[in-house]
Amino acid sequence: MHLGVKSAGLEWYRMRYLLKCLECGKQYSMFFPRQLCDKCSGILEVTYSGKPVMTSLKKDFWSYEALLPDGEYRHYKLGNTTLLPATHPGLFLKLESENPTKSFKDRGSVVEIAKAIEYGYDEVVCASTGNMAYSVAYYAKLAGIRATIFVSKNANWLKIRNIRETRDANVIRVDGDFTEAQRRAIRYSRRKEAFLAGDYAYRKEGQKTLVCEIMAELPELRNVLVPVGNATLFGATYKALLELKGLGLMSKFPRLIAVQASLANPLVVAFKRKEKVKYQEPRTDAGAIAVGYPTYGGQAIEGIRATHGTAVDVTDDEMEEERVSFYRDYGLQVEMSGVAAIAAFRKMNLKGQSVAVVSGGNTLKP
Ligand SMILES: [Zn+2]
Repeated sequence: MHLGVKSAGLEWYRMRYLLKCLECGKQYSMFFPRQLCDKCSGILEVTYSGKPVMTSLKKDFWSYEALLPDGEYRHYKLGNTTLLPATHPGLFLKLESENPTKSFKDRGSVVEIAKAIEYGYDEVVCASTGNMAYSVAYYAKLAGIRATIFVSKNANWLKIRNIRETRDANVIRVDGDFTEAQRRAIRYSRRKEAFLAGDYAYRKEGQKTLVCEIMAELPELRNVLVPVGNATLFGATYKALLELKGLGLMSKFPRLIAVQASLANPLVVAFKRKEKVKYQEPRTDAGAIAVGYPTYGGQAIEGIRATHGTAVDVTDDEMEEERVSFYRDYGLQVEMSGVAAIAAFRKMNLKGQSVAVVSGGNTLKP
């Protein structure tokens, strides 16, 4: 049940940001307690009105609080993940598998849950292919609110079982893909007045911290390879670069390279054909990036073009091979999508320093 914005302490807030609908342009105050436009159900974007005070980049998640929407954050330990020089020259691996629930999703979940609490919700709902479910359930439990998760047919059952057992979340499996799970989550949020979490504005804000941490360590970085499902991380990375440039903390952008599975590559197709992103039924076994219609696909293409980047895809076999050699080289178990960016790096001839974002997730096989 949604109880409305807490009134205590409101005088401490300034209107530091607005929410703007990416579809119809309608603007909302920072106290608007939802993540979809009331008028057209479009997704909203956080737009800051003033510049935060920030003079340097650090490898520290909470040092970027000034780049996040106002919130009563509990400073959980997350982010600050290792940037590991890879065995391949010029490549560094950002090990997002070190986050509490093993993926970069935590960076966004911590912001979303803080906003849900601030707005007075006692339940969150989201759609997930698995990793986001675990992350949202984890932070909801820490905050003492309920989580309901709609998962796609292709979500890893082991992940779901773990969430049910350890995090008390209500997990509902949908007979359809991620896009169908997303529809169900939206309907549920309206019917039950639960806070809709997922690949929306607040998650995107939290995920900006990933590239900030990378740039703190590698200011001369030339290429960033980001795995793409819904393209939220990709959109967040581009937004962060623009904001850092606005603060005078960045002069030259690294090229942003979107990596998809060949069997779920609507962004790659749209980029190559210079068309709008169209739905495509995802057929890849890399569940965490099996998305048929990326929510932030349009923004991702804008980010690729603005940074002179590109979009590439890798086959399921290439990811599986990479996963096995990743385990052999680094002793770390990750899922197929977790190494998609490394597999893409191998196929490309990139100059200068490159970073591949490595995510974790649960895996059944060593
Ligand atoms: Zn709208």
